[in-house]
Amino acid sequence: MVVKQDCIFCKIVSGQLPSVRIYEDDNVLAFMDVNPVSFGHTLLIPKSHYDKLADCPSDILAAVSLVLGRLAGAVSRAVAADGYNVLCNNGRAAGQLVDHVHFHIIPRMTGDGVFNSWPSFSYEDGIAEQLAEKICAEL
Ligand code: 5GP
Ligand code: ZN
Repeated sequence: MVVKQDCIFCKIVSGQLPSVRIYEDDNVLAFMDVNPVSFGHTLLIPKSHYDKLADCPSDILAAVSLVLGRLAGAVSRAVAADGYNVLCNNGRAAGQLVDHVHFHIIPRMTGDGVFNSWPSFSYEDGIAEQLAEKICAEL
């Protein structure tokens, strides 16, 4: 297991820092977010330290996936949410503050005003295809 000495979430995994635990198995841990965006805001992390999603080996992501949907359903039902967001922030530009990969499960209520701005635009002709080609080349 990869452990980073100064990582808050590694310390939560080891028990050096307290947390309100919801679920754990050999590979993953779920616990309550200490500064929730909404009631029930939950974090799911691999126990092993990886900074970002793209650094995670596929077997670790598979272990996360085995739990993520079931956990999201449980969180949502527990607070009688109308919906939920599952978020994984990667990099400061994307709002990642803790550099240990984690998935937010954020229960949502109709009209709650959380994330009510989602800026979007349209591509000029041909740009989506160009970008898709570049992404495929990186795979
Ligand atoms: P990020 O911005 O990196 O995607 O989100 C990090 C999340 O971790 C935030 O929602 C923040 O409230 C939560 N968090 C930071 N430190 C702690 C902690 O010590 N304990 C718990 N339970 N959550 C934390
Ligand atoms: Zn860590």
